[in-house]
Amino acid sequence: MSLNKGFMVVVDISGYTTFIRAHSRTKKPSLFRKVIEKINDGHGEHIISDLLETVINELEGTLTINKLEGDAALFYAIPADPTDFSKNLIRKLENSIDIFNKRINELLFIQACPCIPCNEIVNLRLKCFVHYGDFLIKKVSRFKEIAGENVIILHRLMKNSIPRNEYILFTQEAAKVSAIDELKNVEIRTEKLDDFGKMQVHVHYPFAEEFKVQKPSVFVRLKNFVPMRRYFSNKKTEDKLKEKLSFQ
Ligand SMILES: [Zn+2]
Repeated sequence: MSLNKGFMVVVDISGYTTFIRAHSRTKKPSLFRKVIEKINDGHGEHIISDLLETVINELEGTLTINKLEGDAALFYAIPADPTDFSKNLIRKLENSIDIFNKRINELLFIQACPCIPCNEIVNLRLKCFVHYGDFLIKKVSRFKEIAGENVIILHRLMKNSIPRNEYILFTQEAAKVSAIDELKNVEIRTEKLDDFGKMQVHVHYPFAEEFKVQKPSVFVRLKNFVPMRRYFSNKKTEDKLKEKLSFQ
């Protein structure tokens, strides 16, 4: 176990809980719904794994991936010069949001599938959380896990009152050592955290407007049916992604 000082970062896909809620909304699904959900089993997980993989590919090299947490991923970095490092980090996080949205645009053909996750893809957005401070690196069997109060704070911040779904949040500690002065669209706000009380955060909105996508027509849906089936034929799961990142 070792004590380190550095950045802890979480990227989180929002909209995933809507998937789950959408699934349990109808208490008694019709036979037609049941059949559709049977055919499209695992599409939500496939989409999330695909999008997370896209973001991880962008951030790896700058940050070290530590853990997959369902619809989120945890990273860290221990730079010698945090301010200098933060310039690259901010650029990479902005790129991640951009690449995430581009990937959604590329995947719009899956709306040919009638299932809820495939059609809710247009609502998915990426949030980034950046904290700076001490953390422990613990060895858990073959793997290293980061731990400590600051890791807990970072996770608590994911439940906040920010009304938007696309942003990069810096804690006060992260903002102090980061080059956020040059960033436009930064809002300073106070969030209340369970067990930790009030905390000031700096929230950067990289895009003035959230990107909007059109619903496809029936014709487009029919045309995309075969490519959609092909896309899902090689099933992506969280376990497969972990394997790829050699977590398992
Ligand atoms: Zn589907």
